[in-house]
Amino acid sequence: MRKNIVAGNWKMNTTLPEGLELAKNVNKALENVDAKCDVIICTPFTHLASVNAVIDKNKLGLGAENCADHRSGAYTGEISAPMVASTGATYVILGHSERRQYYGETSETLKEKVALALENGLTPIFCIGEVLEERENGTAFDVVKAQIEEALFNLSAEDFGKLILAYEPVWAIGTGKTATDDQAEEMHAFIRGVIADKYGKEVAENTSILYGGSCKPSNAKALFAKPNVDGGLIGGAALDADSFMGIVTAFE
Ligand code: PEP
Repeated sequence: MRKNIVAGNWKMNTTLPEGLELAKNVNKALENVDAKCDVIICTPFTHLASVNAVIDKNKLGLGAENCADHRSGAYTGEISAPMVASTGATYVILGHSERRQYYGETSETLKEKVALALENGLTPIFCIGEVLEERENGTAFDVVKAQIEEALFNLSAEDFGKLILAYEPVWAIGTGKTATDDQAEEMHAFIRGVIADKYGKEVAENTSILYGGSCKPSNAKALFAKPNVDGGLIGGAALDADSFMGIVTAFE
């Protein structure tokens, strides 16, 4: 059975001391609740090793927000999948719309990143989603399908089964504008159908598909109640332990 998951994406926020404080607060809060979902925090690279040392990995997973599309070598400033894995992190966000939009990430580079992440024992949290214009001109479903096909359908069923997907309509990220629970459910059900057509019903049913885009404690419950929404990838609301926990506890 697929897992329910709430994952935080801290983006380029928090200094190391601030990040450690936030991680400790989330970790502490998890000691006092019986979380009904897996909980993950994805932090800046600079924080990973230090955060890894202060959290209980049985309760709180740790991930990076990106990794390089090369294993090692002359790529100044890049951080490879083996480097991420060596910090103790076990997840990595790949294909976030901010990476696609601001750093020119394409399905071709993402294919390499996914392969390297898997080769190094990292679980990719792979993001897909349409921009506003595509939602409005009726191509959102085609766009999301193409993102999945181009970057992921080279994988074996076994490897595809290791992924977590995150549907993040770009128009809802950081805008305060959330997709309605019905819009999210419609797209999540569509994504599961796309997976089923390629890998079969069992793989599709076992794939966790998270929703991302201005998810907060006030709307998480309605979103997570939808049968094909298996949790959330949380940006802004993950930067405060109380609001992040308000989303974690939306699963009952
Ligand atoms: C994200 O960046 O993955 C995200 C969902 O951001 P926010 O929750 O701030 O919209």
